[in-house]
Amino acid sequence: MKISKMVSNIPASPTLSITAKVGSLKAQGKDVIGLGAGEPDFDTPEHIKDAALQALKQGKTKYTPAGGTPELKEAICNRTKQDYGLDIKPDNVVISCGAKHSLFNLALTLFEPGDEVICVCPYWVSYPPIIRIAGAVPVIIDTTTTHFKLHPNQVKEAITERTKGIIINSPSNPAGIVYGKDALEKIADICLENDISIISDDIYQKLVFGNVTFSSIATISPEVAEKTFIIHGVSKTYAMTGWRIGYCIGDSGVIKAITRLQSQSTSNPASIAQAASVTALTSDQTPVETMRKAFEGRRKIMISKLKEIPGFEIIEPDGTFYCFPSIKGYMDRFDGAGALANFLLERALVAVVPGEGFGSKEHIRVSFATSEDNIIKGLERIKQALA
Ligand code: PMP
Repeated sequence: MKISKMVSNIPASPTLSITAKVGSLKAQGKDVIGLGAGEPDFDTPEHIKDAALQALKQGKTKYTPAGGTPELKEAICNRTKQDYGLDIKPDNVVISCGAKHSLFNLALTLFEPGDEVICVCPYWVSYPPIIRIAGAVPVIIDTTTTHFKLHPNQVKEAITERTKGIIINSPSNPAGIVYGKDALEKIADICLENDISIISDDIYQKLVFGNVTFSSIATISPEVAEKTFIIHGVSKTYAMTGWRIGYCIGDSGVIKAITRLQSQSTSNPASIAQAASVTALTSDQTPVETMRKAFEGRRKIMISKLKEIPGFEIIEPDGTFYCFPSIKGYMDRFDGAGALANFLLERALVAVVPGEGFGSKEHIRVSFATSEDNIIKGLERIKQALA
């Protein structure tokens, strides 16, 4: 059968492929260590699971409004007030099947063929494909040679008369970069001057380390808030990746349009997952801090083990659960990160995500969303294999 041109051009998500590869090697009985995970290894907290069971028992098993239940919208409004200080109303919120779906819907709703959307490299693997599916063109600002620092001037230089949007992801996947308020203010000014929509992907908001604090571009001023769409969800904060609940907060006209689009595609996200997410967002947030602390400890171990590998260079991540070391020292031996990742999987039985999907063939992503033992053992194996 002939596959449409649009779908033929969509690459499979490399992060999900690695997870699948590790699963199949493990099923063959191989002792593979997965450092590729893009999700917390913790289970969803028990009280959230209980809320789902209760929702099931109460018969919350039917369609909900396409854009999400009033209860979850209210919970999102309250959490946003608490975490951002922003007053938003239910008609500023649409709930979708994961933050990826929220981004997908938003891109289809905001962009026309030929529009340009700015992304910062290294970028999350799905941004360019999502932008392309909307018919728009991703315009990439490279920060791999500037220690992952985005200079506001680079944003200015990337703008043309076709620029319609910019994606800001802080803390960023894969580099763990957290933008300071100053940089965000400068970027916001440029966006306002040029009438550019800002997509702020805040999915890793709660995962910041040390003295670093999270700032969102949406909180800079009411004018900036009007131009900003916050993308968020329960996946990373509450270890709920499989539940598929994400949301978009922004201009009510756009939110209404997204809801219309969703009503003709997925309809509502799963009713039971929505009910559980109400509990996640409104109940005691101690488990979030417990998980964050665990990640903080593992991060330290991973950084010190990575520093022991000759030829790897690391910029320490301030957030997320990833490190994105440079493997430039090995580029005379391997034709890019993909080749090195294959070698590591075959020789060391360690899975890492090659940097190509994030826009760099000279980096790999290693995740510390796994046990301390796995981190130590995995990085030891990598060191030995490369030696
Ligand atoms: N944005 C970023 C930066 C991510 O890393 C991810 C998940 N890998 C998502 C969005 C999507 O999250 P969800 O599971 O809610 O679709």
